Amino acid sequence: MATPEGVKYAIIGAGIHGLSTAYHLALELKARGKGSGEDILVVDKTSIGAGASGIACGVVRNNYFQPAMRELMAHSVGVWESDPKAYSYHPVGYMQISPESMHEDVGTIFEQQKAIGYESEFIEGLDDSMKYMRGLFDDWQAQGITSVLHEKRGGYANNTASLYGLATKAEGEGVRIMTGVTVESFETGSNSGAITALMTNKGRIACDHVVVAVGPWVNQIWNHLELPTEVSIKGADGSMHDGVPMWKFWCLEEGTLGVDPNMHKTNDGSFPPVIHVDSDTPLVSDVDGSVITEDMWGIYYKPDFNFGGIQGGAAPYKVDQKPDKVAVDPYGADSPDFIVDDNFIHMWCSALAHCQKRFEGQIKYYKNQERSGGLGCFTPDSFPVFDTFRENVYVIADSNHGYKMLGVGKLVAQEIAGEKSKLLEPFRFSRYAEGKLHPVSNSPFPWS
Ligand SMILES: Cc1cc2nc3c(=O)[nH]c(=O)nc-3n(C[C@H](O)[C@H](O)[C@H](O)COP(=O)(O)OP(=O)(O)OC[C@H]3O[C@@H](n4cnc5c(N)ncnc54)[C@H](O)[C@@H]3O)c2cc1C
Repeated sequence: MATPEGVKYAIIGAGIHGLSTAYHLALELKARGKGSGEDILVVDKTSIGAGASGIACGVVRNNYFQPAMRELMAHSVGVWESDPKAYSYHPVGYMQISPESMHEDVGTIFEQQKAIGYESEFIEGLDDSMKYMRGLFDDWQAQGITSVLHEKRGGYANNTASLYGLATKAEGEGVRIMTGVTVESFETGSNSGAITALMTNKGRIACDHVVVAVGPWVNQIWNHLELPTEVSIKGADGSMHDGVPMWKFWCLEEGTLGVDPNMHKTNDGSFPPVIHVDSDTPLVSDVDGSVITEDMWGIYYKPDFNFGGIQGGAAPYKVDQKPDKVAVDPYGADSPDFIVDDNFIHMWCSALAHCQKRFEGQIKYYKNQERSGGLGCFTPDSFPVFDTFRENVYVIADSNHGYKMLGVGKLVAQEIAGEKSKLLEPFRFSRYAEGKLHPVSNSPFPWS
């Protein structure tokens, strides 16, 4: 495809957000008589799914301590449910299984799920939690669990298949998707801060509106847009905290136990909900009985035919480098630095065995040859920023929450078409200066 000289809407990034925005914007423009998909161009420096969306575990859940996140996730689950086939979505549900230190937080989540009509069940107490889990899996053996939140909606989707499903829908509406096109800088208008063109390795592309959906590369594009590398944050006591870096990286750790996915079914032979366990019970090695950690730990897992086994992950670790120094490329499995090591394999497989007897002694089947994990780029408070900068640039920075957030592109499309979204309002950049921050939970994960 020849590089167009100009387009009305230029979207950078063919991951979940870029493609969802493209598809929904095409529908919005058509519905409002303001244009069509032919006004939209998606460019990606590599290919569809070359970023975080293409390696994501694919878990779709509502379980968030922050009301604004929960409402946004409920909206997104609705979009997944709107076309499960095209999005390769498996609505098996999701379970948050927690120790006493998280009991109250998760109870709040349950209450608020009830308030927004999001179906879930909440089981409390050591004995009842064990009974409920054994009712699902007769080999359940995790100790110290005092609450179980069972979300009946949500589940997981197959990462690449869902992206190609979205791309097909977008192209069906006339959207053009060009791969191998890297945005290297921007051209600015002479009388305003607005962006007038993308400067790419394939030439200049003039545009009226830009959408940035570049996942872990957001720090780079942010720099090209000359946006602030540090922010001031107003704390709960009203005092200002200046010089807080805008971006930080965490490395996500995931992997697959190469067993038959059918080995992880419920007692009645069904495919189980996605299981997420957090625990403060000491984690002991399934290999040699040594203590792996006495600190809080957490894992998630699901049977997955796409990955070919039991796939899941554990809590990520902070990358202790200045954002400009972090080598985002090569990304994912190709990265020499940001993929899982033997410690993760030992921990995750031992944690699986801690939870269910069927996983004892299975570490030998771990798919060591398929390296996994990858970087995520996080905002100062680890929650998304969805906002307009430089007059005509919409930045979707999901702070690595976002494969599940399929619905964000739909809301962004409505905002670009001129209709402000109540669901996106709590995620504006101005919240830092205004101190309108989201509440923080007791989970060991930075995204709960
Ligand atoms: C290992 C891992 C597991 C995860 N698991 C889950 C999960 O189970 N559930 C969940 O909800 N979230 C999960 N996440 C988070 C989720 O994957 C991301 O938040 C989300 O996919 C980001 O989507 P995106 O569209 O913003 O970016 P991406 O999917 O990263 O896409 C960005 C695209 O932009 C392109 N690009 C970058 N720079 C340029 C440029 N200069 N010019 C042109 N193109 C460019 C890239 O090539 C890439 O294709 C996981 C993340 C990781 C790393």
